[in-house]
Amino acid sequence: MRYYDKLIFELSHPGRTGYSLPSVQQYPFFAEKCSSGVAVDAAVPANLLRKSKLELPEVSEVDVVRHYTNLSQMNFGVDTGFYPLGSCTMKYNPKINEEIANHPAFAGLHPLQPAETVKGAQAVIDGLDAALAAITGMKHFTFLPCAGAHGELTGLMLMREYHMARNDSARVKVIVPDSAHGTNPASAAVCGLQIVEVKSGADGLVDVEALKPLLGPDVAGIMMTNPNTLGLFERQIGEIARLVHECGGLLYYDGANMNPLLGKVRPGDMGFDIMHLNLHKTFSTPHGGGGPGSGPVGVGERVLPYLRIPQTSGFHGNFGVMLRAYAYILMLGKQNVKMAGPLATLSANYIKESLKDCYKLPIPTVCKHEFVFDGLINDGAREGKTGATTLDVAKRLLDYGFHAPTIYFPLLFHQALMIEPTETESLETLDEFIAVMKKIAAEAAEDPDILHGAPHNAPIGRPDETAAARNPILKA
Ligand SMILES: *Cc1c(COP(=O)(O)O)cnc(C)c1O
Repeated sequence: MRYYDKLIFELSHPGRTGYSLPSVQQYPFFAEKCSSGVAVDAAVPANLLRKSKLELPEVSEVDVVRHYTNLSQMNFGVDTGFYPLGSCTMKYNPKINEEIANHPAFAGLHPLQPAETVKGAQAVIDGLDAALAAITGMKHFTFLPCAGAHGELTGLMLMREYHMARNDSARVKVIVPDSAHGTNPASAAVCGLQIVEVKSGADGLVDVEALKPLLGPDVAGIMMTNPNTLGLFERQIGEIARLVHECGGLLYYDGANMNPLLGKVRPGDMGFDIMHLNLHKTFSTPHGGGGPGSGPVGVGERVLPYLRIPQTSGFHGNFGVMLRAYAYILMLGKQNVKMAGPLATLSANYIKESLKDCYKLPIPTVCKHEFVFDGLINDGAREGKTGATTLDVAKRLLDYGFHAPTIYFPLLFHQALMIEPTETESLETLDEFIAVMKKIAAEAAEDPDILHGAPHNAPIGRPDETAAARNPILKA
């Protein structure tokens, strides 16, 4: 065990402190000012005072600094390495956005301040609304939802309201493709709608012939993402929109990962009526670990009358995330926003083509920002040896300093490895990743046991994931 693997409580030494200050009495001026102030206890009512001493580790300042710095290094972050987690858009987010979101003029606002004192913040929200409307082809956005899934629920409630207002209450079904992100059917279920799955064809796209018989007077709408979670552009979207509208339904667009389309193609023009964006993916807020997020919902002409006013939730939603998104859009400008999609698409196709001799590529067409492999071509299984799985590849990547792609999702393939490099990585980084993935494939072919035991040099080995989820040890 390295000494800094110890808990900070184990480093504690009675009487050691992280600071030293001279006694107030040495300084007559302060002694006078602080004569009552030093006795902080006196200001706190006795019934609120703690009865026993607070158990804090007694350590020096440098121990504290090392403790937290080392802790920060035990986790993987986009600031420490490449993070090709499919469907998550784990791209680098410019630090200037953090500066802006932390500016006291914004960070110091109080949610209950009178409206006339927060005109600047309102201008940011209005400006962002206009920018997102221009990018997506929607009419307006509400910034109420605080995550993508929250946006889906809000959007589906708007969909339901649209039908209710037309006395069309029999529409209780939502069609969801089998490649959909898991939150789509989950949100539909939370909204009280029934989920009907539509199958993808062998090309990974929604099968229009399979969709037709599902459409009818009980269909509220369809939830889709385009490009879908296989990274493939649904080329029949125009026809799908026509069919769904013809049967009286609406189209919901999951825009969590909009980067392949930015400035190029608009969901509104594809025929979508309602959509959400994940500002914390596409528009540059670092995410993971549960937040903060922002999942604004945009609506087209049909649903505009049902959009809630005010368009921001109590306390204006996650305003810091909106600031980052607005700063990001303004800094890129109209021209550069259009580069995100081609770069994300180029990166994904470059990796796909470079690795398809080592990893099974079930759908060999040009992809958008992400694509899916279905495990190794040669997993090393022979003479009673168990072959290396997608989980093994993912764990071995950590040994080489890369985060794993998304694994075992989408559920269409047994050994899915879903890779999304994003638009922010250099060619050198992509080449390094490709070299490591090839090396891992070679290791698997030669001796899959190296992979079965991975990771070998991460802070912890391979935990029992079920036990870790069911009985988490959250403190010492
Ligand atoms: C991430 C994601 C979501 C859910 O977003 P959250 O903010 O995590 O709720 C929905 N759909 C797709 C395609 C996503 O990638």
